[in-house]
Amino acid sequence: MAALNRLLRAKELSLSSSYSWMTTTCLRRNLFSTAVSEAAAAELHRAPSSSSPPLIKAFPVRRDPKERNVQWVFLGCPGVGKGTYSSRLCSLLGVPHIATGDLVREELSSSGPLSKQLAEIVNQGKLVSDEIILNLLSQRLEAGEAKGESGFILDGFPRTIRQAEILEDVTDIDLVINLKLREDVLLEKCLGRRICSQCGGNFNVANIDIKGENGRPGIYMAPLLPPPHCASKLITRSDDTEAVVKERLRIYDEMSQPVEEFYRSRGKLLEFDLPGGIPESWPKLLQALNLDDHDDKQSAAA
Ligand code: ADP
Repeated sequence: MAALNRLLRAKELSLSSSYSWMTTTCLRRNLFSTAVSEAAAAELHRAPSSSSPPLIKAFPVRRDPKERNVQWVFLGCPGVGKGTYSSRLCSLLGVPHIATGDLVREELSSSGPLSKQLAEIVNQGKLVSDEIILNLLSQRLEAGEAKGESGFILDGFPRTIRQAEILEDVTDIDLVINLKLREDVLLEKCLGRRICSQCGGNFNVANIDIKGENGRPGIYMAPLLPPPHCASKLITRSDDTEAVVKERLRIYDEMSQPVEEFYRSRGKLLEFDLPGGIPESWPKLLQALNLDDHDDKQSAAA
């Protein structure tokens, strides 16, 4: 069966078999490890009230390994294209794309109790606290479980060693794909990013065409332009300004690069250097993942 073959191929790339969803018990146990500040612990213990909901909610446990699809993680600097490639792979493999940045932005636009606090953090390019991110993620997984979702590709999580340790403790991640792109392109790509305010589609107006010099290869990445019906509705993320992107790149180096080492040392990391734009990179990524003979690859790439 195609799905099973895909899963087995994916598993050959690293891998492990037992399975459990994150459980409330596991999350609580980890969140109350020594690394947790007293303030955060007090917040988590706080009695629920209408204005201040508890940070961690219960969600179900499912242990049968036969019931699950791939559990992959995408790592990489801001602007590298994690969202683009991970959501394409999700369409191909039939798994949900769970981007913690999207969960944060949903919370921001909800004008819920956390939104003001989150706006301040995100607009400075800082990371949201592990507690808040874990809560948003566990709510998303719980909602997915209720809809019968199985497996996932995580995009933007884990971003700190503590997040990686908690994830490792509560479930099996099969494969971690580390997307890499030369640094001078990352800033340009972030600044060129546009979102359609109506359909949520992601586009990029940056036209990257760097000639090779001194033995270093050039790189060409065509803009990813919107269709005419989106063109007048484009918006820019509030954290995609030059100063904030530079801060996010700095924080990535400091906080998230150790996460690469965490997975490298466990034999789970697949390094992938993007050779150019989507037409060039997508087939090579499929090849690296042994998915290049997949029937649906053309439609997913469309
Ligand atoms: P990018 O990868 O381009 O920096 P994201 O859309 O993944 O952007 O995230 C946007 C913002 O959301 C981050 O700058 C950070 O403030 C917050 N965020 C997302 N994921 C996490 C995470 N795992 N831990 C902490 N903060 C996060």
